[in-house]
Amino acid sequence: MKVYLDNAATTPMQPQVLDLMTKVMRETHGNPSSIHQAGRKARTIIEDARKRVAGHLKASTGEIFFTSSATESNNMIIHCSVRDLAVKRIISSPTEHPCVLNSLKSVASLFDVEIDFLKVDGRGNINLEELDQKLHKDTKTLVSLMHGNNEIGTMIDLQAVSDMCVKHDALLHTDAVQSVGKYPIDLSKTKVNFLSASGHKIYGPKGIGMMYINNDNNIEAYIQGGGQERKMRSGTENVYGIAGFAEALDWLVENREMHLNKVESLRRHFKGKVAEKGLDIHYNGNQDKNYLSNILSLCIPKSEKSDLIVFNLDIHGICASAGSACSSGVEHDSHVLAAIDAPQDRKTLRLSISHHNTEEEMDYVAEKLATLI
Ligand code: PLP
Repeated sequence: MKVYLDNAATTPMQPQVLDLMTKVMRETHGNPSSIHQAGRKARTIIEDARKRVAGHLKASTGEIFFTSSATESNNMIIHCSVRDLAVKRIISSPTEHPCVLNSLKSVASLFDVEIDFLKVDGRGNINLEELDQKLHKDTKTLVSLMHGNNEIGTMIDLQAVSDMCVKHDALLHTDAVQSVGKYPIDLSKTKVNFLSASGHKIYGPKGIGMMYINNDNNIEAYIQGGGQERKMRSGTENVYGIAGFAEALDWLVENREMHLNKVESLRRHFKGKVAEKGLDIHYNGNQDKNYLSNILSLCIPKSEKSDLIVFNLDIHGICASAGSACSSGVEHDSHVLAAIDAPQDRKTLRLSISHHNTEEEMDYVAEKLATLI
């Protein structure tokens, strides 16, 4: 049996996304900056996509910019908010994605900016009171907190964090790569200054990202060139990637309930099987509320077989991941597991579910795990 349970690393494309992208590739070769009809056709595809993405986030079209990845979006947001908005302090958490953590390191080495990390508890939750206290300072501050954690699934209460940032007049950036489309985000109600997302986590293509930059924030380009994306992100646009991103987000938003119900029910089913078999498995991250339903981080006993758990599951046709997925292939200690003080004498396995998975597949994985731990 072949089972793909690495959807937090990347998702397969929805068939309609693939169809649309191949159609665009076949029929639209114009450069969107050209003023002739071929160029105008490509431009229309981009602007239509921007409108649809803005609509789903309740943002205005002028606030949506396409990039090559969420990595690029996060780099630009952090770098440019310090460079252009006189941010002197960034409050973040130790469980952010490496593209945020490394951007923080980079700005700290280039600019006069203090980086301050919140503590997280054993499930990866920040403490809002600590954030409140830290924001009690007269310094221009950017708060950068991911909406949902890619390794353990813990989510922040975005509305509460946003309210606190508004109260203290701080800027808020959220990396919403793992939550966009899967969970409602209404930017007309929840004040966020910057948000990032990625096509390949929402059943769309790889190599396309997006950033939302609230109209109040006057930042300038990070990548210089011909002035595409209204001078904010130069480089000839990835027209079919942009079309694919919007199509994928359309699909996910329309099917949000189905998707959430399906992954939540598979999660429960799997946990039920584990309990039934009496397997010695703990779960990392929140389990009762504020969690991404599709991410299950399993803490399993260390043994010869579990040391190579990803490899051993792969032999049985199961694709899963150990620590961080973005650098899968290379196993290294996860900064997220270190931040939550995950037990050193155990191994971590991440199963990330999609609507394509079935109960039979989850049973098969539970069975194989029983033989491996
Ligand atoms: N942020 C989070 C939370 C992620 O999970 C990932 C990828 O795994 C990224 C950012 C980077 O996204 P991209 O692959 O588009 O660069």
